[in-house]
Order: sequence, then structure tokens, then C-alpha cells
Amino acid sequence: MRTFWDELALYLEYLKAIGVKALPKKKAFERFLKLDLSPPPKSLAEIAKEIEGCTRCKLHRTRTNIVLGEGPENATLMFIGEAPGRDEDLEGRPFVGRAGKLLDQMLGAINIRRAEVYITNVVKCRPPGNRTPEPDEIEACLPYLAKQIKLIRPRLICTLGLVAAQTVLATTQPLSRLRGKIHEIDGIKVVVTYHPAFLLRYPSYKAQALEDLKLLKRLYEELK
Ligand code: URA
Repeated sequence: MRTFWDELALYLEYLKAIGVKALPKKKAFERFLKLDLSPPPKSLAEIAKEIEGCTRCKLHRTRTNIVLGEGPENATLMFIGEAPGRDEDLEGRPFVGRAGKLLDQMLGAINIRRAEVYITNVVKCRPPGNRTPEPDEIEACLPYLAKQIKLIRPRLICTLGLVAAQTVLATTQPLSRLRGKIHEIDGIKVVVTYHPAFLLRYPSYKAQALEDLKLLKRLYEELK
């Protein structure tokens, strides 16, 4: 059976043959979603099976558990964080540590139950010492996020922190330029806010985060 990478290689060969010399970098993730010619996964269990024992990047050497994500398969709203931390690595579930408790409070502030949203991360294994994931680790893990998005087809995504925002929107712009706007990838609306771990360290940004959450809530109500 041909894998996604085989299909992508074929497609790139085809583009070359018809004279396309370079692809624009902008909106790379959106293109990634659209170019994925493999059939969408049938269930989250199928993605879980595929990621089992993953060795696509060096993080597999130091992880305890892979943290794929959790929430309903038909969620309207998806939250995307950066990468699992220590608690998440030990439990195999996203956002269960201190940052997770704050995420729960953020959801509570806009009257959304954690059980009704899907929560995941850009990178599914913990970077040692909770360092920022490196570009090769993000790239290696992106097919899993793409599959999750393709399967769940949320109507709305909220990215938490700079890594998630820049990855999902395929941009290098700072958070200050990305917040407060409604973005879109592949027909899915995207709202950007601060990472709860950042808010734990710099609580004075919570007021701004609340503005983002209000925007998110308004869109959620419209799309539900
Ligand atoms: N930080 C993240 O980005 N994700 C988690 O799951 C936990 C902490």
C-alpha cells in the first residue's frame, strides 16, 4: 500500500514534470492538509495504532508515553498546545499538570466543558526538560496532527502559545500580530491565544487571554 510520503513524492514529481520549480512557503500547513492524498483515518483508534511505538524523531528515546490527545471524535472545537510536559508524559494525557489546570479554568471562564472539546499538541512526545520542540521534531510529528484534523474536522481551532500558532498557521509572525484575528486553514477558523504555562508565569497577560477566549466563545456559539 502506498503511504502518504509515496503519494507526496509522486505528486512532487508530477509538479516538476509540468514545470513547477518551487513551491511558496506560505500556508505550508494548509497545503500539507490538502496535499495529503491518503484516505482520511477512520477513527482516532486508527491514528493511535499508527503512532504506537513511533520512532520518527529523537523524542522517542526519552518519552514515557506518547500523548496523542483526548476528546470526542466529532468535537466542534480543537485546542492545540505545544508538547506534553512531565505530568502529561507520565499519564499519557494532554494538559493534566499545572498548565492543564489553568486550561480547565480558561474553559470554565467561557462556560465550555473540557469533555466537549478535543485537546492535543503539535508534538506528541515530551521534549526533555520541557524545552521547546525543535523544527525536525515538529516536522516529524505533523502528519499525526494533520490526521487528527482531517478525521475530527473541527469547525474551530484554538492554538495555545507561539509554537502551536506558528505551526498551524505556517508563519513566523509573533503572537502579538496573530492574536485578536480570525484566521482560517482549510476552511477551519483559527483563534490564537497565549499558552497557559506562559500565563502561569506572567499572570498580567490573563486579561488579554480572556479577550481571546471571548472571541473563541462567540465563534463557537455561531458554529455549534
Ligand atoms: N503544555 C503543552 O503544550 N501541552 C500539554 O499537554 C501540557 C503542557
